Amino acid sequence: MAAEAIVRPTTMNPNQSRNEENPLEAMNARFDLAAEKLGLDQGLYNILKVADREIAVAIPVVMDDGSLNVYRGYRVQHSVARGPGKGGIRFAPNVHLDEVRALAAWMTWKCAVVNVPFGGAKGGVCCDPSKLSMGELERLTRRYTAMIMDFIGPDRDVPAPDMNTNPQIMAWILDTYSMHQRHATPAIVTGKPLELGGSHGRVRATGYGVSLMTREALYRQGMDPKTCTCAVQGCGNVGSVSAETIAALGVKIVAISDINGGIYNAEGLDMTQVRIQLEEHRSLDGFEAGDRITNEELLELDVDVLIPAATENVITSRNAEKIKARVIVEGANGPTTPGADRIFEENEVLVVPDILANAGGVTVSYFEWVQNRIGYYWDERDVNNRLERIMVNSFQEVCAMAEKHKVSTRIAAYMLAVDKVADVTRTRGIYA
Ligand code: NAD
Repeated sequence: MAAEAIVRPTTMNPNQSRNEENPLEAMNARFDLAAEKLGLDQGLYNILKVADREIAVAIPVVMDDGSLNVYRGYRVQHSVARGPGKGGIRFAPNVHLDEVRALAAWMTWKCAVVNVPFGGAKGGVCCDPSKLSMGELERLTRRYTAMIMDFIGPDRDVPAPDMNTNPQIMAWILDTYSMHQRHATPAIVTGKPLELGGSHGRVRATGYGVSLMTREALYRQGMDPKTCTCAVQGCGNVGSVSAETIAALGVKIVAISDINGGIYNAEGLDMTQVRIQLEEHRSLDGFEAGDRITNEELLELDVDVLIPAATENVITSRNAEKIKARVIVEGANGPTTPGADRIFEENEVLVVPDILANAGGVTVSYFEWVQNRIGYYWDERDVNNRLERIMVNSFQEVCAMAEKHKVSTRIAAYMLAVDKVADVTRTRGIYA
């Protein structure tokens, strides 16, 4: 893609003339600010501002009734300067290119923050998986894989699960790719089933990483976990494991929610009951361990720690002022808009930003890829110990950067990441 058309804004105020809920604009606002603070060279800025490669495909699928549907799919590789692209594939009816671009760039910054040797990529297919049979879902996945096959690979770009995709879908991608290679290629995807070369600890890695970041943030603020309360938005993979592992630190989890709303109990929720409820019903419907509250009320509870672990844009300039938590650890990608960032800075709320807080998942994906490539597998304790070392170290680096440049932890994380990717790009030079 031609970079000359991209002009760096002269005014770097991230809150100006932006649609704060467009994920690409939200990502760009932070990137621009980090680039300005770093004094990033204009040429490097132009390179890092746009994706290296964007693939759009039309995916024909024969439906169970014999009719033919065509689905729109994307794979965006934001940067492969530090290593193969890395990032999930999202199946959702409203997936759009700007969203995939933002998510791909976030992966670049996330991998750089935790120093795993991957670039950033993301995929998306516009479909409603709840309306597809297993057969239709499999045919859609395999055809999408075939259509992006020239651009993915263990050394090129390694997909993983994201919204509405799962280990079974990764198994179909692995199989399709391996059939074309004529040999099993487990390192083509991460987040696959254990028996196909998945890693111990991968399923819980993001939530466990969120709890490690919560522990570090509380220590940094001089807050004793045993006297703290916490609300968790979302009880899917990230939210449920975050809640359980934060509770294990001694923090009282007083609220948790799903898309239909939350449960609040000032005495603290029993995490075993929450787990059983979720295992049996996969939602909080009918769970009577406390009072029903809305998702908006959950965010504004009088708690010490808030974990947004559901979806993007839930904390904006409209509600940030009402949030009482002193520590926010972003389990979800993009839960906070740039407008809210400014309010948190003014109110001295410590935010552990998404590109650090939820990087446990991609870090263990990296471990999975390493294990596939060396053909030697680690146990869960080994995985978790390595994850803890990496995440705690990255947290300290981000805090040191924030102190040195007198910026928020979010902008510090972006600065750390942008600087690393810029450095590699500069050193590699431009192949002409
Ligand atoms: P999930 O589908 O397992 O769970 C999502 C949860 O959020 C569910 O409880 C759902 O009911 C709830 N939810 C959805 N929309 C909501 C809304 N509008 N308001 C309130 N609650 C809502 O997803 P997940 O894997 O737990 O991912 C959650 C977030 O974390 C996403 O932003 C995802 O991109 C991010 N993330 C996930 C991983 C991972 O390893 N799974 C890694 C990094 C980041």
